[in-house]
Amino acid sequence: MPHDFRRTKIIFTLGPATDSEAMLEKLIAAGADIVRLNMAHASHDWTRTVVRRIRAVSGRFGREVAVMMDIKGPEIRTGDLAAPIELQPGEIFDFTVKPGADRENAEEVRSVDVNYQDLVNDIKVGDTVLVDNGLIRLEVLAKDHAHIRCRVLIPGQLSSRRHINLPGVTVNLPSFTAKDRADSLVGLEEGIDFLALSFVRTAADISLLRDFLAEQKSKVRIIAKIEDQSAITHLDDIVRACDGLMVARGDLGIECPLEELPVIQRRAVRSCLAQGRPVIVATHMLESMITQPVPTRAEITDVANAVYELADCVMLSGETTVGKYPLECVQTLDRIARRIETEEDTDPREPAVFTGERMKVLHSAVVLANQVPGSKILTFTRHGFMAHGLAALRPVHSPILAFTPHAQLLRQLRLLRAVEPHLMPFASEPDITIENAIIHLKQIGRVQTGDKLVVATDILSQDRLVDSVQLRTVR
Ligand code: PEP
Repeated sequence: MPHDFRRTKIIFTLGPATDSEAMLEKLIAAGADIVRLNMAHASHDWTRTVVRRIRAVSGRFGREVAVMMDIKGPEIRTGDLAAPIELQPGEIFDFTVKPGADRENAEEVRSVDVNYQDLVNDIKVGDTVLVDNGLIRLEVLAKDHAHIRCRVLIPGQLSSRRHINLPGVTVNLPSFTAKDRADSLVGLEEGIDFLALSFVRTAADISLLRDFLAEQKSKVRIIAKIEDQSAITHLDDIVRACDGLMVARGDLGIECPLEELPVIQRRAVRSCLAQGRPVIVATHMLESMITQPVPTRAEITDVANAVYELADCVMLSGETTVGKYPLECVQTLDRIARRIETEEDTDPREPAVFTGERMKVLHSAVVLANQVPGSKILTFTRHGFMAHGLAALRPVHSPILAFTPHAQLLRQLRLLRAVEPHLMPFASEPDITIENAIIHLKQIGRVQTGDKLVVATDILSQDRLVDSVQLRTVR
């Protein structure tokens, strides 16, 4: 039987197909947990409007979802073209970093501008240039101070402002650009909950963003998007430095050999499990549903594998920005996740490394919950530590009912596997807070008389707060 509550969380990307009140209401009602705004395609006016709309719809519906702003980071793009260029196999073609500079054989060799001047220093002869999600492939033949001369290996139609990937090339662009900063400031003003940083290359990129957030006195959490080979080299350090990781398979699949992608996904998910960081598996999960109402069999299995791997979240992109079936996509993820979560035969749970006594107390709570069939874990969290720790330990069957007095923390807890957040002011006596939570859970039908609750919280003992684990039966 499917669980009464889905452990794996659903993130969807907002776009023209879903940004109306009516669609937002449908997707939130269908169980979406986090709304992602892709700033590569968003204006500031649209951002402000939709964040307010999400809040209004969530408020009306009584289910606060989180907002994740995805800033685009260091991105190289081709410039504007008067008309698309049909590149031919074997054609010699130039990328120009200094528009207007003299070019050898300019009459015969076609060219396009690129928005990054230092590209000529970062790239070398023999490197590969991929354009438009890897659809067009070129090889670098020569370069000077202003141009990179290439040969077309895989032809295609080149239109304006296409994304360029350079597999294995270390690009010296700043990780947090002026545009990222401007976008983030709008997000912070509107009260977003997560910032996802694209093309994180090392842990230092995350420190920069953390410094910026500290300057802004913001409690927004950082999601590191791993999208290129440098991120894979520094994976464990990046995982340690971030508040959550996104396996951004779209760009990863271009920047790395395709057969490496499943290996990287598995390594990334396991590194997150081992270090107690939430992890999102993203991109192309239900790609065919952009145009079709049912997924391919391979997509069903891909989603199922992310759930078997014990990822915290699965994510939709094009499926919900421009797709014809955004609601069906959320429903499909929901169905697959609920079914797979009932299987005990998941990947090995690799519980987070325990540092500190508080983590050991939480570990004992999870060990106890795993021993008591049908139990639920009840916890109370002001800063998120308790809920994060418990989720990181991946209880086998117990949901984690996490109470917090803070609305932003409640939304941020939506990221965590098996955590069901509830908003409630805390009483000064921990025992009264526990009683109030149980009364609330009974009122909404979430627990019943006789249910077993493993309570992980602090208790007052001789005027001191002491972490404790209790087994209670609901009266
Ligand atoms: C990806 O590349 O998989 C991804 C999620 O990033 P974006 O959608 O920003 O390209």
